[in-house]
Amino acid sequence: MLSGKTALVTGSTSGIGLGIARSLAQQGANIVFNGFGDAQQIEKLHTEVGQEFGVRTAYHNADMSKPAEIEALMKFAGEKFGGIDILVNNAGIQHVANIEDFPPEKWDAIIAINLTSAFHTTRLALPGMKQKNWGRIINLASVHGMVGSAQKSAYVASKHGLVGFTKVTALETAQTGVTCNAICPGWVLTPLVQKQVDDRAVREGTSNDAAKKALLAEKQPSGEFVTPEELGALAVFFCSPAANQVRGVAWNMDGGWVAQ
Ligand code: NAD
Repeated sequence: MLSGKTALVTGSTSGIGLGIARSLAQQGANIVFNGFGDAQQIEKLHTEVGQEFGVRTAYHNADMSKPAEIEALMKFAGEKFGGIDILVNNAGIQHVANIEDFPPEKWDAIIAINLTSAFHTTRLALPGMKQKNWGRIINLASVHGMVGSAQKSAYVASKHGLVGFTKVTALETAQTGVTCNAICPGWVLTPLVQKQVDDRAVREGTSNDAAKKALLAEKQPSGEFVTPEELGALAVFFCSPAANQVRGVAWNMDGGWVAQ
């Protein structure tokens, strides 16, 4: 379905971004990977995805908190593949602390990576998408783009901001073949969440398994984690012709979290 298209997935060396990159590659899209990690492992990872699905892949190590590096990433994608058709703004970080204890530099980093980076990639991707009259922008927000949780001030602010930015992007492209939507996952067991599980196990003196169950029981009625593969399938739907008129939605996939 997506052969001949190129997708940039930010923060795709791990977790949800990797799951979405794999799902788009499975549909035939070439993939520009981005994110941190061991250089050799990343090289292996993107080469293997290319071989498994018969698509072209490339990797750029831009730090998404730095506008100049984002510009370099977008230029790289243009030179390698002639532009980006599908932009998945996925890179994100978390920090958990009460507001009065929240380190200001963590606040700035979370807003820069989770929110401002999407502004930069979007402003740079839109001219090419509008020219082709086809494009898909998918923003990885969170249930925390819809509801709050204590101790996550910067994250919740960044994700609410990203949902707002999604709506404006959708309105500015409403009469074109470019769509923009947000995905709002509940708990997904990735390194970002594993850290919160580990902290909880230490804090409560329980096993890792018990900490996972307690984490889910608190917020996610299904008692099950959402998977990167399920989120990948939703991203593929947003890229399909069936979703031509799905514009500006914030679509939760959260085991019932925000239905409560
Ligand atoms: P993860 O930690 O597994 O992956 C994050 C990715 O972002 C990694 O590839 C990492 O290298 C990259 N990254 C981090 N900082 C970066 C930077 N400055 N520049 C470039 N890349 C950077 O996390 P994840 O759980 O897969 O999260 C992916 C997205 O999904 C995030 O935006 C997160 O907020 C969102 N999300 C996650 C969950 C969850 O339960 N895991 C729930 C809702 C939303």
